[in-house]
Amino acid sequence: MFDIKISDTTIVDGSGNTPYRGDIGINSDRIIEIGDLSGVAAKRDLDGSGLTTLPGFIDTHSHADGVLLHAPQGVHSIAQGVTTEILTQDGMGWAPLSADKYEEHAKYLAGILGDPPLDLDMSSIKELRSHYDGKTGPNIAVLVPHGPVRLSVLGFTDAPLVGDHLKAAQELIYIGLQEGAVGLSTGLSYYPQSYSTTDELTALTDVIATNNSVYVTHVRNHNDDRAPEGSGIDEAMTIALRTGGKVHISHFMTRPNSAGEVAELMAPIDRAKESGADITLECYPYAANATIPGYFLRGQFHEGGLDGLLSNLKDSSLQDKLIDSLQNLFPGALEKAVFTRVVGEENRGLSGMSFVDVAAARGVPIEEMVIEVMKEEAASFGFRASTPASVATTRQVESDVMELLSRPDYMLGSDGIPLLEYEGLPHPRAYGSFARVIGPLRRRFGVPIEQITNRLTKLPAERFGLTDRGEIKVGNFADLVMLDEETVHDLATFEDPRTGPTGVYHVLVNGQPAVLDGQLTGDIAGRAIP
Ligand SMILES: [Zn+2]
Repeated sequence: MFDIKISDTTIVDGSGNTPYRGDIGINSDRIIEIGDLSGVAAKRDLDGSGLTTLPGFIDTHSHADGVLLHAPQGVHSIAQGVTTEILTQDGMGWAPLSADKYEEHAKYLAGILGDPPLDLDMSSIKELRSHYDGKTGPNIAVLVPHGPVRLSVLGFTDAPLVGDHLKAAQELIYIGLQEGAVGLSTGLSYYPQSYSTTDELTALTDVIATNNSVYVTHVRNHNDDRAPEGSGIDEAMTIALRTGGKVHISHFMTRPNSAGEVAELMAPIDRAKESGADITLECYPYAANATIPGYFLRGQFHEGGLDGLLSNLKDSSLQDKLIDSLQNLFPGALEKAVFTRVVGEENRGLSGMSFVDVAAARGVPIEEMVIEVMKEEAASFGFRASTPASVATTRQVESDVMELLSRPDYMLGSDGIPLLEYEGLPHPRAYGSFARVIGPLRRRFGVPIEQITNRLTKLPAERFGLTDRGEIKVGNFADLVMLDEETVHDLATFEDPRTGPTGVYHVLVNGQPAVLDGQLTGDIAGRAIP
């Protein structure tokens, strides 16, 4: 007698091997038998005829940290068949931090991570994980975020970690790994992370390499002078070669202005690999990114954290420099931006509006509008890029994404920033990335389902040490998704970003049904893993 039996289904097991037909028997949270199980009864039968059963998807890059504390079901991911999300990305997170530092840093990061309850204990990675364990729809894994590590040992200060500060940071990373983190994350266009140097990052990654963990990095595009051997991807490759550790590159893909240039994008990666660098990467299937306004402000304006940033924004003697930073750090980007998260009551109508339109309505230049709204919203709003004017560009970026995912070192990280209803209109990538890749993009480009499934399941499970997950095999956890290969399709759009996909019928997390017959069950079976 099984608790659940999936009958007569096509099994794509995550290994990359050819799909086969069979039944899957589940007891408690594990797969206990695969084969012809027609003679064995079960408390619940899931008819798999006409459906394909895959390992639950693993989102290697999620910013659902805050949303999952308020809306724990994880509708954005569970409805797509995502059963594990890796949080605390880009060096952003709330632990390990003392109570007062947590409160201030949570407000500084709210534009991207949302508003967590401020009475939570975030003094350690162990405490952080406890706020999710057994309390969310999907499983979650966390990385030690570089930002809080720096805040703990040095404060929000424009200086690289050296000497005793560096040793203390290494110790915090080591403790975080002992407490269940699956790696270290940095985001080198966010603060205080961008105050670091290549030497600091190398020393911190040494701890990761020694413990056979993963260094996960959003590569540097701030403070290039802190990386004397080269900024951007070059710095990450330097760290990989110096430490010999595993390095995972966040959201590394072509963009509208580089669409079609996959060979150029990958050249430095492949060169480093030939020299022995151990690199994996991730991408998401949209031609528009999303971020927070602090991304456009140079390091000097961030010193002192949120208090420092807000007082700098109000300092009339700094206005010219602020405007210069907004105009020239990433030229042209603000002209393409659209508000996503805006929570202040006066400004909620801005969500979904372009920066150009809001600036025109206020009768000020775009940079001044951004400074005004940052002051009004305590710097905590978010925005995304508009989609390219040419559909051909979007389709080229999608083609590039599928070409990248054909490599055996590429995974899918949604970079999703799901928002609560009152927070505004999010980027659809949180609600559609996985359904989009496994459905329409796989079909359009004729990619074998076993190949793409491997990139979304077993590959990330192995890379991030998610034990007994990512593959349909006896003994593994029953994290499974059952979908119709021919019809599965994302429905989240920029106009209606929270619409769940079609064609996803059943989703199990640790053997518990999270979706049945296309409907969310409300069951909460996720764990803090590994
Ligand atoms: Zn991110």
